Amino acid sequence: AWSDALGEREVLLASPRSFCAGVDRAIDVVARAIDRYGAPVYVRRQIVHNAHVVRELEQRGAVFVTEVDEVPPGQVLVFAAHGVTPAVRAEADARGLSVIDATCPLVSKVHSEVRRYTGRGDTVFLIGHGDHEEVEGTVGEAPGNVIVVEDVAAAARVAPRDPGRVAYAMQTTLAIDEAEQIAGVLRERFPTLQGPRRDDICYATTNRQQAVRAIARECDLVLVVGSANSSNSVRLVEVAQREGVEALLVDDAGQVDLRALKGVRRIGITAGASAPPHLVDELVHCLSGLGPVTVRESQAEPENIHFTLPREVS
Ligand code: SF4
Repeated sequence: AWSDALGEREVLLASPRSFCAGVDRAIDVVARAIDRYGAPVYVRRQIVHNAHVVRELEQRGAVFVTEVDEVPPGQVLVFAAHGVTPAVRAEADARGLSVIDATCPLVSKVHSEVRRYTGRGDTVFLIGHGDHEEVEGTVGEAPGNVIVVEDVAAAARVAPRDPGRVAYAMQTTLAIDEAEQIAGVLRERFPTLQGPRRDDICYATTNRQQAVRAIARECDLVLVVGSANSSNSVRLVEVAQREGVEALLVDDAGQVDLRALKGVRRIGITAGASAPPHLVDELVHCLSGLGPVTVRESQAEPENIHFTLPREVS
């Protein structure tokens, strides 16, 4: 078989990788809501941006909807980890839904920063991707007073109402280096710019980017397990690519073309914060179909972050 002549292969696992505390909590919220209130439990948007997670929860009785008006009055509705606008909350209340909020506390923190800045009259530059659900939710805290800034070019031309009263905030899952560049342009243009004491990019995004950067240069190829709509997973691909290594996003082992890995000796693997750990195990197992595989894991401080559950399910 073609695999016989392929020789040994080394897999380098980036650590940390896969689920973060916010994703763990959000999945737990839906599972517990189903146990406590019975199926169906409705979830607005994907609970986290991962196709496998969504499918597994659907099998347990979750029903995913796009908007609140798809949920029959009186039912249980979970808000996804990315957060929602105050308008969506009001709509769910008006519909008489029992809402359980699985918004990640680190996203809620950005919402409250935006409320604080806009509440005192500042225009907020929100560094992030305008079409991402988290950004839609954050902008909704003060529509009209939040300007999404997607890149350095936008930062260079953005024109706030009062350049002396400006602040910035960030989407939690950006590439650290890119976001810093954008913030740098804003700081230079607006000397009184206010901002978060520490970046809004969350610990999980930061740690996973550092971990993949640390292994990338040792690898011939980096595989990132994650879904295409997962912002932090796509950023991991880009971070690896910026280290000069080929990197691919795969939803699961089934998407890997083993034949294309013929000459590849060292494969780095990581997973986005929304990608289940078992998908990484399955990928490693699948690679062993090419011949002997040695697995090495990079060293890192363990992540000891946990968030408490909403009271409705705790
Ligand atoms: Fe929260 Fe960060 Fe995880 Fe998003 S990636 S759910 S902000 S911990």
